[in-house]
Amino acid sequence: MSVFSNIAFDHHEQVAFGEDRDSGLRAIIAVHSTRLGPAVGGCRMFAYASEDEALFDVLRLSRGMTYKSALAGLPFGGGKSVIIGDPRNHKTPQLLHAMGDFVDSLGGRYVAAEDSGTGVADIKMMSERTRHVSGLQEDNEHGGDPSPTTAYGVYLGIRTAVQYRLGADSMRGLRVAIQGLGNVGFHLAGLLVADGATVYGADVNEANLRRAVDVHGVQVVSTGEILTQEVDVFAPCAMGAVLNTETVDGLRAGIVAGAANNQLADDTQADHLWDRGILYCPDFLINAGGIIDVYYQRSGGDRDAMREHVRRIEGNLQEILFRSDRAGRSPHLVAEELAEEYLAAAAVAEPTRVAAY
Ligand code: NAD
Repeated sequence: MSVFSNIAFDHHEQVAFGEDRDSGLRAIIAVHSTRLGPAVGGCRMFAYASEDEALFDVLRLSRGMTYKSALAGLPFGGGKSVIIGDPRNHKTPQLLHAMGDFVDSLGGRYVAAEDSGTGVADIKMMSERTRHVSGLQEDNEHGGDPSPTTAYGVYLGIRTAVQYRLGADSMRGLRVAIQGLGNVGFHLAGLLVADGATVYGADVNEANLRRAVDVHGVQVVSTGEILTQEVDVFAPCAMGAVLNTETVDGLRAGIVAGAANNQLADDTQADHLWDRGILYCPDFLINAGGIIDVYYQRSGGDRDAMREHVRRIEGNLQEILFRSDRAGRSPHLVAEELAEEYLAAAAVAEPTRVAAY
């Protein structure tokens, strides 16, 4: 397993490997950057097929967090952690305590929050061993779960994209295909339906699919066909790397805008989408609602201010799409460059600062 020569390694400040024999914990924490503040990011638990796969995932995800927080204007750096294991069978209080100890050992450089495979209860368990966790505020409207705010930000991104591309002022008469109706996809479906859209959805989890059908009237499509559904917007809200050479060729949506992190299997897919004339909304730009929610939970800011902050996603996306058209380059690359500009400006203004937040 290579770290420094890994294709996903991007000058990460720190990559830590943690093992606890008694609980069976095997985990990796990647701190990509603390230039803007502590590296805040989710703790993902997943049954990775190999350690290489886990390392690749955590390196890419942590870099995305740096860009996400920078573009969202948050005083956070970028980090992520992964626990190697099936969350349905391998999650125990001992393992979560061991993960809490591991997070604590970084002294606040990394702050853990919920992600795929972990929920509020798990982060709470970790908090018995470390104060460097987030997303627990009980009086938050959703009990600390940032997913509804993420869904709201993605919804605003979709609205901005359809206005930009189609000149539409609402979702009335438009069709959206959502891949993955979990925490974010479910709430996103509700917002889109309330705004007049027809929503198609697919999920490998029958219970999640049923819930979206029963509550929001989502129309069921098979997991194989959701990517090629003839719709205005395709919203990936399941796993990463869903946009590869083959799937991009098969897309029949004019816009791709969703919550999943690292939707592009690799950066060349940004050009591929651009060449096909598909408007791709950078994932790390429009799925920032969750990290913004986490920031307001940590700083004690009020809910209205938080929603106002999330609404900045609209202006940010407009700016990126405008720059992209002017430069004739994909929004993904333009967004990465803008985030790099912010980081460079911060480096000039203030040397690297690591705060135990
Ligand atoms: P989740 O685990 O609650 O939901 C994901 C859903 O996708 C599940 O219902 C799962 O069954 C389904 N799924 C998995 N593979 C699938 C496939 N091949 N086809 C169709 N459905 C499939 O996760 P979530 O919290 O809703 O997050 C969704 C995505 O958004 C993830 O990539 C996550 O990293 C990203 N994200 C989430 C947040 C947040 O606040 N939760 C914030 C930013 C980014």
